[in-house]
Amino acid sequence: MTFAHHNSNEWDYLKQQLPQWLEQSREQCGSGKVASYIPELSKAPLEALGIHVIDSKGNLFTAGNSELAFTMQSISKVFTLLLALMDNGKDVVFDKVGMEPTGDSFNSMLKLELVQPGIPFNPLINAGAIAISSLIAGGSPAEKSERVLQFFRKLSFNDTLTYDQSVYRSEADSADLNRSMAYFLKDNGVLKGNVEEVLDVYFHHCSIQVTCADLGRMALVLAFDGTDPITGIHLIPRQYVQIAKTFMVTCGMYNASGEFAIEVGLPAKSGVAGGILTMVPGKYGIGIIGPALNPKGNSIAGVHLLETMSREMDWSLF
Ligand code: GLU
Repeated sequence: MTFAHHNSNEWDYLKQQLPQWLEQSREQCGSGKVASYIPELSKAPLEALGIHVIDSKGNLFTAGNSELAFTMQSISKVFTLLLALMDNGKDVVFDKVGMEPTGDSFNSMLKLELVQPGIPFNPLINAGAIAISSLIAGGSPAEKSERVLQFFRKLSFNDTLTYDQSVYRSEADSADLNRSMAYFLKDNGVLKGNVEEVLDVYFHHCSIQVTCADLGRMALVLAFDGTDPITGIHLIPRQYVQIAKTFMVTCGMYNASGEFAIEVGLPAKSGVAGGILTMVPGKYGIGIIGPALNPKGNSIAGVHLLETMSREMDWSLF
């Protein structure tokens, strides 16, 4: 029986069903793999799955391993895009990155050479996010990273948010591919200045450590078009949130974004540490962690859980 046939309010139904849906989805974990190309990420627990849901009044509930701390990785790219838009405006940002999905993997540099004018296809692939890091305002890499961190703290309403230094170092020490991509971007005029400094800003924001509660709260701000519904604080201009949410639909789940739009139908962004940030616009912010990834790089159990939730609750926007 789906929620539509159930005689109770949506929130209560969700709260009641979620623990059992989560345990069913957890069975997927064994078929996934924890990311290991950043060595430190390989230490994450394969069987973990957690979720946090928050509504506009601040009501919340959690299920599974929702207390697990993990790094944002690619999820951070949505918010650095927003900060770059707020710092520079739309024209400057879309002079450096495009608006289209690639169909290639997140760390591919194939189209940078093949398709002129050689700018990254969108801000959520690595090349695009590195270009975005170069647009964050600030006099030094440290100041830029500090501005990013403060922005993330504001959006998550969590002043203690900080970096996982081990993951930061592990990525900085093993990022040959991202490094080559960044130098390529400099050569074709997308990046200006010191490439290592731009990369440092990028590695820092990927290594910001969160829990599902932080992702849920950040998602809630997007679900309400840039104004936190709990406090009424206006944090991001609505037109920029619209851009970010559109990218989340078209490119947020790597090469599985089309399938995710069909099966779940919500704006979402995943990261290689296994996090997923998603929302039901106008209703809920949702944070998920499940470090076991499917071959496309998304949390295998997290996607399964969202498919169940969206189907049962009839959440698809499409
Ligand atoms: N820091 C990661 C990288 O650049 C982010 C990748 C991701 O989460 O998709 O490889």
